Amino acid sequence: MPPYAESVTFDSVRGRASAGWVSRTPSIVDRLRTADSGRVPFSVEFSPPRDAAAEARLWRAVREFERMGPAFVSMTYGAGGSTRDRTVRVTGQLAEETTLLPVAHLTAVGHSVDELRSLVGAYADRGIRNILVLRGDPPGDPLGEWQKHPHGVEYADELVRLIRNLGDFHVGVASFPEGHHRSPDLDHDTKFLVNKLRAGAEYSITQMFFDVEHYLRLRDRVAACDPEQGVKPIIPEIMPITSLRSVRKMVELSGSVLPAELEARLADAAGDGPDENRAAVRAVGIEVATRMGERLIAEGAPGLHFITLNFARATSEVLANLGLAATRV
Ligand SMILES: Cc1cc2nc3c(=O)[nH]c(=O)nc-3n(C[C@H](O)[C@H](O)[C@H](O)COP(=O)(O)OP(=O)(O)OC[C@H]3O[C@@H](n4cnc5c(N)ncnc54)[C@H](O)[C@@H]3O)c2cc1C
Repeated sequence: MPPYAESVTFDSVRGRASAGWVSRTPSIVDRLRTADSGRVPFSVEFSPPRDAAAEARLWRAVREFERMGPAFVSMTYGAGGSTRDRTVRVTGQLAEETTLLPVAHLTAVGHSVDELRSLVGAYADRGIRNILVLRGDPPGDPLGEWQKHPHGVEYADELVRLIRNLGDFHVGVASFPEGHHRSPDLDHDTKFLVNKLRAGAEYSITQMFFDVEHYLRLRDRVAACDPEQGVKPIIPEIMPITSLRSVRKMVELSGSVLPAELEARLADAAGDGPDENRAAVRAVGIEVATRMGERLIAEGAPGLHFITLNFARATSEVLANLGLAATRV
C-alpha cells in the first residue's frame, strides 16, 4: 500500500457522506455553466513535478494562470510511487493555497480497490471533490499489455461507480476523438465512453487532437448512441505545440494522429540543424492552437482545456489571441 494511503480509510469518506455531509465545492459542470457570459471558459492541465526545481516552475505557472481565471485546473496522476505521493500533496496545495478549483486525475494502475478508496479519502480530506477517473496505462510501456491489479478494477467505468458510491464526488472521464488505441473500432469506443457516463460521470475531457473534425464526430457519435448522455459536456483538450520532438513523442504515446500537413509545417519550421528552431515551431504551434480554439468555440464547445506541461507562456498567448483570459492583477 502506498504511504499516502495509510492515514485515510474508506470509513472516513463514507462516514462523512452518510452523516449528510454535502460538499460546497462546485462541480466542473457548474463551473462551465456559470462561467462569464459571452466568454467560453478555459481550464488547464498540470502534471506532477519530478523534483524541487520542477515544483518551483509549476508554482510559477499556477500563479500566472490564477490571474487569468481558469474554470478549473487538473493535475495528472503519475505512474510511479514517489510521483504519486507528490501528486496528492501538490493537488491538495492547489485546493488549500490557491483560488483555483482543482480536479485530481486518478488511475487504476497498480492499485487495489482498498487503495483506490483510501486515495479518494486523501483527496477528500484536502477538500477535493472533483476527480477525473481513468484506467491508466501499463507502467513502463504505455502501449504494452494492460494488467489488472488482482484486487483492482478492469475498466474505468467500475472506478466511476466506486467513487460515486463513496459519497459526494463529481466525476469526469476521458474521451478519445480518434478512438482509444485499444478499442476495436469507433462504435465500441463510443459505447464504452457512454458506459462511463451512464455509470455517473458528469462530463469527459478528450485526448488531445489536431483536427477539430474528430471532436465534432465524437460529439455526434455520443449523441446518436445515447441522447441523454450526449448532453453531458465533452471538453476538448488542446496542446499548443512548442517542440516537434516532444509532440511526436506525445502523439506516439497517446494514440492521437499528427496530421501529415501539420507535421510537414512543423518540420519545415524546425529546420535541418541538430537543434530544432524552437521559436519557429512554437509560432506554428500557437497559431494552430488558436485556429483550433476559434473553430471549437464557433462549434459550441463547452470549454477549452489546455495541456500546459507546467509552463504558462504558450497557453497564455493562445488565450490572449482568443480573448479568453480574465485580466486580474
Ligand atoms: C483527458 C485525459 C487525461 C488523462 N490523464 C491521465 C493521467 O493523469 N494519468 C495516466 O496515467 N493516464 C492518463 N490518461 C491516459 C489514460 O489513462 C489512457 O488513455 C488509458 O489507456 C485509457 O484510460 P480510460 O480511462 O479511457 O480507460 P477505459 O475507459 O477503461 O478504457 C480502456 C480501454 O478499454 C476499452 N473498454 C472500456 N470498457 C470496456 C469493456 N466493458 N469491454 C471491453 N473494452 C472496454 C476502451 O475502449 C479502451 O480501449 C489521460 C487521458 C485523457 C484523455
